[in-house]
Amino acid sequence: MKEGEITSAAIMGGTFDPIHYGHLLAAERVREELCLQRIFFIPSGNPPHKSYEEMANAIDRYDMVQLAIASNPYFEVMDIELKREGYSYTVDTISELSKLLGSKCKIYFIIGADNVLEIESWKNSAQLIKEVEFIVVPRPGKFEEQVKDKIIELRNKGVRIKVIEIPLVPIKSTDIRERVKSNRSIRHMVPEKVEAYIKQNNLYST
Ligand code: ATP
Ligand code: MG
Repeated sequence: MKEGEITSAAIMGGTFDPIHYGHLLAAERVREELCLQRIFFIPSGNPPHKSYEEMANAIDRYDMVQLAIASNPYFEVMDIELKREGYSYTVDTISELSKLLGSKCKIYFIIGADNVLEIESWKNSAQLIKEVEFIVVPRPGKFEEQVKDKIIELRNKGVRIKVIEIPLVPIKSTDIRERVKSNRSIRHMVPEKVEAYIKQNNLYST
């Protein structure tokens, strides 16, 4: 299926530093539930909300996503945020993707529950909210009540949000980086090819 023929797709954005089974399971369950034709994984280039020194470079993060999704025909990785200079903002990414996919394509944006509290602080959130419907997937964390309240508040403001129940996956990239740094196992937290890539390229070890 060519890009112009797709009528429903979702974006899974993130730093993917590195991509892990939490991301993959969330994307697959949402795809299935909404019968989506494509999930676009879009690794962030230079994220405004994230700046820690040891962040893997954009090419490594992109390559790991590619390795992780290769066996799923519905999944695709896109480099639009990596190519953009300066900070990458979700609103710009969506506009670019909408142009590429055409006006017939409905676009969803998948976020983990932790990101719900931040939506309104994103650049041009008013425009963003008009352009996409958010899909929230649960994620283990201590803010459960706060997230539920926030979803109600956002809906009252006209934000389109669907919640799709998925099994909770207690995996975070932060933990993976810390584990690698302290020589602990990350086996079965990420696909084998991603684990091998991290080792071969000495990521997160210093
Ligand atoms: P970090 O610890 O570096 O923040 P992360 O595991 O949160 O990494 P991100 O790249 O920040 O991964 O996440 C991209 C998107 O995937 C976000 O919307 C996030 O909420 C969601 N996500 C990440 N991990 C999970 C998970 N285990 N279950 C559900 N959603 C997740
Ligand atoms: Mg995160």
